[in-house]
Parts: sequence; structure tokens; C-alpha cells
Amino acid sequence: MNSIYGITRKKLEDYFISKKDKKFRATQIFEWLYRKNIKSFDEISNINKEAINNLKNDFYFNKLKIVAKEEDTDVKKYLFELDDGNKIESVIMYHDYGTSICISSQIGCNMGCAFCESGRLKKIRNLTTDEMLLQVIQAQEDIKKRISHIVIMGIGEPFDNYDNVIDFINIVNDPYSLAIGIRHITVSTCGIVPKIYEFAKECSGANLAISLHAPTNELRSKIMKINNAYKIEDIMKAVKDYINITNRKVTFEYIMLNNINDTDECAEKLSDLVKGLNAYVNLIPYNETHNIGFKRSDASQISRFYDILKKNKINVTIRREFGSNVSAACGQLRSKKEEVK
Ligand code: SAH
Repeated sequence: MNSIYGITRKKLEDYFISKKDKKFRATQIFEWLYRKNIKSFDEISNINKEAINNLKNDFYFNKLKIVAKEEDTDVKKYLFELDDGNKIESVIMYHDYGTSICISSQIGCNMGCAFCESGRLKKIRNLTTDEMLLQVIQAQEDIKKRISHIVIMGIGEPFDNYDNVIDFINIVNDPYSLAIGIRHITVSTCGIVPKIYEFAKECSGANLAISLHAPTNELRSKIMKINNAYKIEDIMKAVKDYINITNRKVTFEYIMLNNINDTDECAEKLSDLVKGLNAYVNLIPYNETHNIGFKRSDASQISRFYDILKKNKINVTIRREFGSNVSAACGQLRSKKEEVK
């Protein structure tokens, strides 16, 4: 049996065809699920008994348990418990342009970035499509406000759970489901190069963010294990291909770690790397966590770094901070709760 929230409309059409039923049933089901928000098949009134019984045999309704919430003015953070007892985090952020949610894609993460709290909790498993979708649906029900943007930037490496992430994007983008515009969906990857090529072909309207964090292989390999598998030049080649195919702007994320990657020299090297590309650099003030030794760069060094990029005509922004009062850095809420236990 599968969760009814884990299936794309196309796959549901194939399901109905395999049952010698009509393809359009899939659209009807989507409307019931995502417009009328039903919680059982018995609430469906326009589909015959036999089809409903088939659905009941093949699919179930599930939901996540909300075990903790933390709230600040512009942010609300959730700790969800899954059916198998594992816990995941999602964060709602209120912007002037809409409401976004940052969702997790895995339980734990195997990428092992030195500065990241999520990586301390090794990957237990991938999230299923329905577990990603339910983060959005249940947070939306809780805040009683439409979520307009999704970033897949929580715990986990989305390109290490590629197929489920693609199905998830497909469902939230579906006009009969949540209808979240493809340009309002962002995937952040530490740089799993083969998947960047696939993503360009398969999901060309979505936004791609690359966690770069260092301008040289020497430095990047020290803080990001993945750089031993895929070098910066491999990433840049894939990003150029992505931009050619999609005509979309790519974001390079760059966390500012004091005395590690925040020197003037790094700013110059970073400029050389991204110069001329249809891309921008997002400088992220590092969220310190007491388990890891890295420190955030001083505000003055962040603005100096920013100015160097600007001088070099690089599109650059400094990320606005949300919820530093609510353990909003990746993995912090979960590890806090587990330590308390
Ligand atoms: N695995 C994906 C997505 C999850 S991490 C990726 O690597 O992109 C989302 C972003 O948060 C990444 O850029 C990651 O490097 C960054 N990050 C991790 N720990 C952080 C911290 N303590 N403070 C600020 N950013 C952090």
C-alpha cells in the first residue's frame, strides 16, 4: 500500500487506466485531496463505490505528528514525527512577497559538511514523496495561510533523493494540487554534478541553488566532503549547461565562516569563478551551533566581502536572517530535542 499523497497525477492516471477506469479520475482525486482537503476516501461523492474500494485497497491517508513548534514574528518552525518515529524539521518564513516553507528531504544527511549540524546526524533514510508533501500541507493548515514558495533546503541532500524530490515538485506544482508556480520552487544542492544535468532537462523552470562555500578546491575539500567526488570545475561546467538549457539564473550560496573562507583573497577568487555567469551569490551569515567550532564572520568582514564582489560586478546579496531565536539553523531543533531526551 502507498500513501495517496505520494503519487503524481500522471501516475494516478496510469493507475486508473490499469483498473480499466477513466484517466480523469486522477484529476477528481487531486481536487478532493488538495482543494477540498479530504482526510478519507469516504468523503468522495462523485466516484463510484467500486473505484473507491479499489483506492482503499491500494492507498492510505497518512499524516505527520507535530511534536514541537517554535515561533517568532517572521518565522515558524516545526518538528514533525514520522510514522517510524523519526523526526524532521520544516520552517515557515513570512516575506513581503509571500510565505515560504523550507522542507527537509532526508532524515539526517550523509554529505558530511564540516560546518553543518544536519550532517552530525547521519542519514537514516530518504524521505518519501508524501512525507515531503505533508510538511507543506500540514504547515499550511497550521498557519491558515497559503504557502506560495518552497525551498528544498532543510535537512538532507535533495539530489541524493532525486526521484522522490522530482515527484514532490511535480505534485506541488500541479494546477490541480497546490499549484505552486515552478519559479517559486528552489532546490539547493551541495553539488551532485550528474543530477544537475538531469535536473536541467527534467525540471527546467525551478530555481537551482548551489552550496559553493569556497572558491578553491583546496579549501572546499576541507569543509565539504562532496568536493572529493565532484570538483568546483565539474560544478561550474554543469551550471553552465544548466543555464544554457534553462535560461535561468543560478544562485551560489556562500556561508561566511570567520577566517576560513571570508578573506579578501577568497572574495576575489569567488568573483573570478562566477564572473560572466547568469548567476548571483548569496552570502549567508553562518548560524553558529554549540556542537561545531566554526564562527560567523564579523558583520564588517561580511560587508567588505560583499563590496569586493560588487566592485567586481557580481550580483550579490546578503541573506536576511530568520529566526535565530528559534534554533532555525539546519538540524538544530531536532538535535536540541534529542539532546534533551
Ligand atoms: N544539502 C543541500 C540542502 C540543505 S543545506 C545543500 O547542501 O545545499 C541548506 C544550506 O544551508 C546549504 O547551503 C548549507 O551549506 C547551509 N548551512 C548548513 N549549516 C548552516 C549553518 N549552521 N548556518 C548557515 N547555513 C548553513
